[in-house]
Amino acid sequence: MLTGTTFTYSIVSLALIMALLTSLIALPFQMIGVVEATQGTESRSDDVSTEIIDVSLNSTNSSTANATTTQTSSNANQSGIPETAIGPTIPPEKGYFVEEIRDGLYWVTDGSYNTMFLVTDEGVVAVDAPPSIGANYLKAISEVTDQPITHVIYSHSHLDHIGAAASIFPENATYIAHEAIAQELQRAHNGLQMTNTTGEEADDSHFAPAQIPAYNVSQLPPIPTETFTQNHTLQVGNQTLMLNYHGNNHEEGNIFIYAPAQRTLMLVDIIFPGWIPFVYLALAEDVYGYIQAHDTVLNNYDFDTFVGGHLTRLGTREDVQIQREFITDLINASNNANQNVTFGEILQKVGGPTNNVWTIFNAYLNTVDEQCANEMLPKWQHRLGGVEEFLLTQCTTMTESLRIEPSTKTLEQQ
Ligand SMILES: [Zn+2]
Repeated sequence: MLTGTTFTYSIVSLALIMALLTSLIALPFQMIGVVEATQGTESRSDDVSTEIIDVSLNSTNSSTANATTTQTSSNANQSGIPETAIGPTIPPEKGYFVEEIRDGLYWVTDGSYNTMFLVTDEGVVAVDAPPSIGANYLKAISEVTDQPITHVIYSHSHLDHIGAAASIFPENATYIAHEAIAQELQRAHNGLQMTNTTGEEADDSHFAPAQIPAYNVSQLPPIPTETFTQNHTLQVGNQTLMLNYHGNNHEEGNIFIYAPAQRTLMLVDIIFPGWIPFVYLALAEDVYGYIQAHDTVLNNYDFDTFVGGHLTRLGTREDVQIQREFITDLINASNNANQNVTFGEILQKVGGPTNNVWTIFNAYLNTVDEQCANEMLPKWQHRLGGVEEFLLTQCTTMTESLRIEPSTKTLEQQ
């Protein structure tokens, strides 16, 4: 039982911790939030940009601003994420949650990462193996079936999604991935073997288990034993999965995994149901391909359930439509900011020509990004989780891509 004093103390402590974390992660963005909140308008005033530029160029001003913005951000965080960003409760004694989607297809989550597995009458097909879930993946599978794991599919090569495959699955399972993923894993195996022969083996003893564990060959996910370049239909016993490649998006070889009987589509690190994407459009290697992937999901697949690989809950077709709308708004806001901010005005604000060209570019890029974020904020702040934290990074990626990439630039007109 908490006494009144303890309870108040806990809330205050939590608020302070949240404020500190938020201020460390997203100081520049908080500047926008404070000015917007104070003004109570959705205007994109030049004053906002001026203030942000002043702070970024003169760190001595930031301590005062920080104290003010931290308070506001703390209050905002206490109001909580949108209801639509909340998923099922993870039983703390287990550390994971497993649930049948339908007809032998299950999803498992730890509240930060998620993946799915398919139970057939001839074995289990496991997709990915996030290290944060780790060996709990096997516990989740054994909760619902006695069948052995016979097949493993990699959605893509990133170790935060497949790193645990190094140690938890049977060696004689069939490992399936796109050819590009096999090549990337082969490159990693080769690199580590070279490192080992030169006697420079890394000491990984100080890394926490949740971090990427790949420091020697035995800790790397096995190289796929079956690869494909376009489409692959996996039939195991009475169940079917369709693996499709539609070109680069998050990374080369990131595939769509479709369970037709279960009307479920898995695509990792593209769409984040209920939440803003991870930083910089989830680190998309190919921004145009990343955007197109949304349309491919909506146009090419008949599904009710979406598995995105991250965060709190499963998604729906509506979640994909909402994120596509977010991306459309981001393109427009980024294009507007690119058009509105001129180098001339930035030169004036910086105080004239300087030999340090990056100083001018830094001020220019910051101003463009802040204008983009200011335009996006009113509509999206309370519609998706994590907007205050990551919106500015989405603007950075989109404004830059619109500035220099021919394919993305064609989207300005839409
Ligand atoms: Zn990834």
